Amino acid sequence: MMPSQETIFPDPDVTCADCAACCCRLDVTLLTETGVPDRFIEVDEFGAQYMVHLPDGWCAALDRGTMKCTIYENRPLVCREFVMGDYECLFERAANP
Ligand code: SF4
Ligand code: SF4
Repeated sequence: MMPSQETIFPDPDVTCADCAACCCRLDVTLLTETGVPDRFIEVDEFGAQYMVHLPDGWCAALDRGTMKCTIYENRPLVCREFVMGDYECLFERAANP
């Protein structure tokens, strides 16, 4: 679904229940300490920390069976600030039909 010019954000008709966790395919930089387990964190040569992604493209912390976050209470700030139904959400849903 591509947002139209008339779309009001966040779109109240959008729900994660019918989405294949599209936003969990995005690169997630760890900007604050939220308690993400070390096994889900990779560190680049500059010391920046990111969520590990598996070869299927999704974040390593995503439950492939339920398509829900297994570390929801400790999810990174970037994930907390991603708004369901907002422009970026609709963009990712359209890009991953
Ligand atoms: S926030 Fe948007 S892109 Fe992410 S799972 Fe929910 S509906 Fe899908
Ligand atoms: S930490 Fe959770 S919410 Fe964030 S990308 Fe990974 S699975 Fe999705």
